Amino acid sequence: MKVAELEALLSAHEHDAWSPEFLAAHDDHDRFPAEAVAVLDEAGFGRNYVLDRDSSFPGMTALIRAVARRDLTVAIAHGKTFLGSAPVWVAGTAAQVSAHADRVRAGEVVCWGLTERDHGADLLAGEFAAARLDDGWRLDGEKWLINNATRGGTACVLARTDPQGGARGFSVFLVDRSRLPEDAWQPLPKVLTHGIRGADISGFAAQGAVVGDDARVGEAGDGITVVLKALQLTRIACSGLSLGAADHALRIARDFATGRKLYGRLLADVPHVRQILGRAAATALTAEAVAVVATRSVHALPGELSVVSAIAKAFVPTQVQRLLGSVAELLGVRGFLTSAPGTGFAKLERDHRICGIFDGSTAVNRAALLAQMPRLGRLLRAERLDADGLRTTARLDAGLPAFDRDRLVLTSPTGCSLVQSLPAVASWAPDVLTEVDGLAETAAAFVPAIGGLPSEAFDLAARYERAYAIACCLHLWSENHQDSLLWTDGLWLRACLAVLLGRDDEEAFDAMAAVLLDWKTPAFSILGEAA
Ligand SMILES: Cc1cc2nc3c(=O)[nH]c(=O)nc-3n(C[C@H](O)[C@H](O)[C@H](O)COP(=O)(O)OP(=O)(O)OC[C@H]3O[C@@H](n4cnc5c(N)ncnc54)[C@H](O)[C@@H]3O)c2cc1C
Repeated sequence: MKVAELEALLSAHEHDAWSPEFLAAHDDHDRFPAEAVAVLDEAGFGRNYVLDRDSSFPGMTALIRAVARRDLTVAIAHGKTFLGSAPVWVAGTAAQVSAHADRVRAGEVVCWGLTERDHGADLLAGEFAAARLDDGWRLDGEKWLINNATRGGTACVLARTDPQGGARGFSVFLVDRSRLPEDAWQPLPKVLTHGIRGADISGFAAQGAVVGDDARVGEAGDGITVVLKALQLTRIACSGLSLGAADHALRIARDFATGRKLYGRLLADVPHVRQILGRAAATALTAEAVAVVATRSVHALPGELSVVSAIAKAFVPTQVQRLLGSVAELLGVRGFLTSAPGTGFAKLERDHRICGIFDGSTAVNRAALLAQMPRLGRLLRAERLDADGLRTTARLDAGLPAFDRDRLVLTSPTGCSLVQSLPAVASWAPDVLTEVDGLAETAAAFVPAIGGLPSEAFDLAARYERAYAIACCLHLWSENHQDSLLWTDGLWLRACLAVLLGRDDEEAFDAMAAVLLDWKTPAFSILGEAA
């Protein structure tokens, strides 16, 4: 499916299932947006979640973004099937992949059971257990705060297979609920939430649930590895959710600024408002630049995804949350009210909060990045990189190689080519070079530790993310060109660098505001119609 087809489909339903008022009413009552989800299901949207050699990861993420810019709750509720399926795509046998792909194409709802009530992000503490039987496994335990746990017909679940636990003590199972007696697999009650209130956030309890050995995904004991590889994909795909939220927020801000008159003039003409709008627009584009490069890296730099996914999952939701904060301030009461003249912004802001929490919080992703930091620092000093992979990643008209799951690894042998290319690509920018020098030195000297990292370490991770974002912008700029106002005289690059380097470039932000105020396509994007 192409984004334009999806846009046409959702536009056709914007007075019924996809009407913002209808979706807001579901949200008000903590009710699942079943009608909107049915529109996607009837169009066979599930087939986009199948990741095979013909798939385009950027294409799938763009579709998630297109759903999210209309309603983030629906995007998260529906998109969970991709997250729950990712372990199968990275580690399933040919038979598992084929059978699961058929089910997902047919609209199967899949949930992803990692978290437990008492253990949060600490996966190695998980107690949900799988005990080996002669010809299968017996599952017992609870997973809690699981999206689609009640509606999902299939659950992908991480279970402890060695009572001693440890890195080799867990395995992943793909459980078909329809094959189990009802009392062996019970959904838990819906949990009320601050945002995405209509989503099916619940959990499940297994009690003597017997599954065959063919339910195991990956080798016994490989569960943590399978999960970490799957997260490399899901954390990048989640950027589509945040980009959709950014499109939605910018649309609300544009409509407000062009419709609201104060002191005899439009808000859109007030210089301070234009600075806020321009900076917000540029902030969205920094997130987009990272997401574009990260999604293309799934094909072109797969060996670096352990680094890239952690950066994308920490950086993109953080930037978009920042953008939402500035738009909230601009909207004043219209960002706060949930009835007229509210703009729907309050729901959007609540909904997006979860993007920085689930699938690894910002802190968890920064901790993952820090684990590789000394090596990243050394490789940055050495300026070593995968030049071919980098070029393919950044050149938007370059054909992407097929996704190859065998190239996913837990630590990146080539570090992060984007950041390591900065000394060369930013040779004309002394402030970037100074920052890169300092970053290389601090990163190389950093000593990782499990848990209890000092808080300066998280600043270092944030600095590294920023360096990555700068590199994404510079490469996208130098490898591509489009005929649009954003690309004229390097406007988007200048404004993004101002955001990333903390420059107060009033002229660039004012020009960005002008583009935003005149923006007519569904996505606010450097990609033009393709986004
Ligand atoms: C709406 C919703 C949907 C969800 N959907 C799913 C789902 O489908 N499947 C699923 O498995 N889970 C799901 N979750 C659970 C979610 O992924 C967890 O909330 C997450 O794992 C974090 O757990 P926690 O909030 O209990 O925080 P904890 O893990 O208890 O962490 C507490 C705090 O410590 C920080 N922290 C944790 N580790 C580190 C570290 N190494 N370094 C520094 N700081 C750290 C965290 O960022 C957090 O601020 C969902 C949660 C919600 C609210």
